[in-house]
Amino acid sequence: MGITLSGISKKFDAFTALGNIDLEVRPGEFLALLGPSGSGKTTLLRIIAGLEFADSGTVAFDGQDVSHLPVADRQVGFVFQQYALFKHMTVADNVAFGLNVKKRRDRPSRQEIQARVAELLDLVQLGALGGRYPAQLSGGQRQRVALARALAVGPRILLLDEPFGALDAKVRKDLRRWLRELHDRMGLTSIFVTHDQEEALELADRVVVMDHGRIEQIAEPHDVYAQPASAFVYDFVGESNRLPVTIAGGAVRFGDRELQVGSDGLADGPATLFFRPHEAVIVPDGPALPAIVSLARPKHGVTRIEAQVDGLPHPLEIDVAGANPPKVGDSIAVAPTRSRLFPHPMAD
Ligand code: ADP
Ligand code: MG
Repeated sequence: MGITLSGISKKFDAFTALGNIDLEVRPGEFLALLGPSGSGKTTLLRIIAGLEFADSGTVAFDGQDVSHLPVADRQVGFVFQQYALFKHMTVADNVAFGLNVKKRRDRPSRQEIQARVAELLDLVQLGALGGRYPAQLSGGQRQRVALARALAVGPRILLLDEPFGALDAKVRKDLRRWLRELHDRMGLTSIFVTHDQEEALELADRVVVMDHGRIEQIAEPHDVYAQPASAFVYDFVGESNRLPVTIAGGAVRFGDRELQVGSDGLADGPATLFFRPHEAVIVPDGPALPAIVSLARPKHGVTRIEAQVDGLPHPLEIDVAGANPPKVGDSIAVAPTRSRLFPHPMAD
């Protein structure tokens, strides 16, 4: 089922939580909403679910306006961090909850509900645990119960708000792979909220990067990383070094040093040069940044060095391959091999 958001705005008193959001989610898509805390991700998800209403704009499912439908009539499943399981109910009763509370005329028979619950518990690989209580489960198992409960009413749209946020890294990684498979197998359209860029890049067909209630970029995972639309996105989706530079006649200067990097078609004036730790090499001299190594430590098969550059508040972070990396105290010269320029100088 496709989801179309048009001109969605939401204020809380004078504070704009969402400013004019347009978004088209394709049928069957797995979309990640990525952004820092407070960027409006939860508010947007709640508006899609019908738990919150926008001040203006429309929400449509498969072209049909659902903006004024209450949550119960939208047929969306959601797993929100704060929607904990019912502690006093067994796993099976938790999963059956959405079916048991249906109006009598829509409610399946007791046998039908039992069969459906068994099927869902198998689906989330908890077949044997229907009689347990939430307290007797691990965190990962509890989130799978929450997912089974969300799927019980047969939604076509699944909304997940940082569902694995509280779990440890290994369990999270397993669960998100498994979730992606489930999404594909059931033909769902899913929106997954996270502030973890790795999670978003690994899971999603497309990533929506949000900041301050606005969409900064919508793109495939690789492009968000390789072709960030703004300095904010560049910084948010990966590690980055940034350098205040000046562009003059197409040349890019840091202080009185001219760097061998393209000016990305920017007009003359101040700009910020970004490059990632693996996008630089240590060179003997030439058009490079002179620096003093202040830290060197092993990292994923390379050496991560930190190097102080005169006039920069933060050290550069550079990954150096090879058996003889520079040592603390060494004078080096750093040359970016790939970089991006953005026009506005960025505050720290
Ligand atoms: P995110 O999920 O990206 O962290 P939220 O959507 O929860 O962001 O919140 C966006 C902003 O809106 C935050 O600054 C938050 O404090 C504010 N906000 C959210 N819900 C309410 C509310 N019910 N009343 C007042 N402010 C709210
Ligand atoms: Mg949130």
